[in-house]
Amino acid sequence: MTIVGLDDTDSRENGMCTTYVGARLAERLRDVGTVDRLLLVRLNPAVEYKTRGNAAVAVQTSVEPERAFELAAELIDSLALASEPNTNPGVVVAPHRVHPDGVETDGTGPAADRSIPDDVSAWTVQAIRGHCTIADAERRIESAGYRQDARGNGRGRIGALAAVGAQATLAEWTYERIAYRTKSRRGTDRSVDAESVFDAANAAYPTVWDTVDRGSGELVCVPRTPGPVLVGIRGDDPAAVDRVLDRIEAEPVAASERFLTNQGTDVHLREGRLGALEDGRAYRVDGVVDGDPETRRGGHVFVPIVDQHGENRTECAAFEPTKRFRDRVRALRPGDRVTVCGERSRGTIKLEKFAVRELESRELVTPTCPSCDRTMESAGRDQGYRCRDCGTSADGRERVPIDRALESGWYEVPPRARRHVAKPLVRGGFDGPTHPER
Ligand code: ATP
Repeated sequence: MTIVGLDDTDSRENGMCTTYVGARLAERLRDVGTVDRLLLVRLNPAVEYKTRGNAAVAVQTSVEPERAFELAAELIDSLALASEPNTNPGVVVAPHRVHPDGVETDGTGPAADRSIPDDVSAWTVQAIRGHCTIADAERRIESAGYRQDARGNGRGRIGALAAVGAQATLAEWTYERIAYRTKSRRGTDRSVDAESVFDAANAAYPTVWDTVDRGSGELVCVPRTPGPVLVGIRGDDPAAVDRVLDRIEAEPVAASERFLTNQGTDVHLREGRLGALEDGRAYRVDGVVDGDPETRRGGHVFVPIVDQHGENRTECAAFEPTKRFRDRVRALRPGDRVTVCGERSRGTIKLEKFAVRELESRELVTPTCPSCDRTMESAGRDQGYRCRDCGTSADGRERVPIDRALESGWYEVPPRARRHVAKPLVRGGFDGPTHPER
C-alpha cells in the first residue's frame, strides 16, 4: 500500500490546481490498481508562496510505491507543470499501509495510521500552523526512506510530505466532492443553475455547508478564478456531499472525486496570548476591547484589544469582503471581553470569528442635570460637571446602561469570506452559544 503526496502542481497561467492533478493521478492509478482515498489538506493560509488556498493532496492506493512514483512523475511531465516559473512541484511517495476499506461514514475520518513516523506527522502540524523549509522537508523525507521528485526548487515537497503525514495526525475531517470541467470549456464562464444549487444546499444544510451565501445570494461552491473546478461541495457526510452534487444542474462534468479534508476544522489555530503572537500564524486569543471600532478607507473595520492586565494591545481587522460580519465588529464596545480567531499579519489579527464572553453593559457619559434633564457642562479641569441654569453639579461622568446589538457567543464571517480551513459555527463544538452565518 502506498501514499502519494503532491503539491505545488498548480499554476495561475495554465489554470491547474493541485486537487485536479490529484484526481488525474487517481485516474491513472485506477488503471493499474485501486485507489482507497484522496486527501485534500489545507496548509498554513499565511504562507507567502501559495497560489490560492494552500492545498496539498495525498492519494492512497494499492499500487506499489515504485509504480505509483513513476505515474506521478509522468503526470507532472505530461501536464508540463515543471516548466512554469512559479510552480515547483513536489511528489513524495511513502510505502505505508492504509486502511483497506476506505469507508468513512461518521465524519470522524479514518483512525490514525501508526505506521507513519512521528517526524512526518509532526511535519503536517508544522505545515498547517507554522513555516517550513525545503531543506528540512528533504531531510525528513530521506530519513523516512520515502521516494521524492522535485521540480523547480522542489518547494512542493513541503506540502507533499505534509499530505502524507496528515492521516496519522489530524483528528477531525470533513468531505469535499469536487466536479471538474471538460477541457474545452475551461476559461469560459461556468454554467451552473443557481436555483438548483440553492435547492440542493437548503435540503442538505447543515450537514452540507458553505455551498451558498444566503446573505449575498452568491454560489460559494462555484469558484470565480479560472481553473478546472466546476463546483466543490463541502460537508460532514460523504453521501450528503455526493447527493448535493447530483442535484445540481450544470454544464457537463469531465470527472469528479470525493476528498477527505481538514477544511472547516480550525486546525490552523493555535492557542495564543496577547504579547506573544507572531506574524504568519493564526491564533485563538482572549482579550478585552480597548477602544471604539473604527471603519477605515476601503470599508475595513478595525478594533483594538488588550490583555487583562491592560499591557499588550493588538488591533483586529474585519476586511471589506467579510461584509455583514463588519457590523458585528462595529457593535463591540470598550470593556467587552472577547476571544478572537485569525491570522496575525503585520501586527494585526485578521478576524475569522470572535466570541463575546462578557458584554460591557454600561458606558460612561457626561451626566444630565436632575432638574432640567439637559446635559451638564464641564466645570473646568478636574472640577466635575455642572448645570449653569439649575446650579446642580456632578463629580464626574456617570455610568449608564447601554442597549447592545450583540449577544454573548460566537460570531463568524459569512460563507463567501470563509477561509477553507476555518470552521463554520454550524458544525458545532464551540465553547459557547453560536450565531452561525448561512
Ligand atoms: P491551489 O489552492 O490552487 O492548489 P496553492 O495555494 O495550494 O494553490 P501552491 O502552488 O501549492 O499554492 O504553493 C504553496 C507552496 O508553499 C507549496 O510549494 C508548498 O509546499 C509550500 N508550503 C505549504 N505550506 C508551507 C509552510 N507551512 N511553510 C513553507 N512552505 C509551505
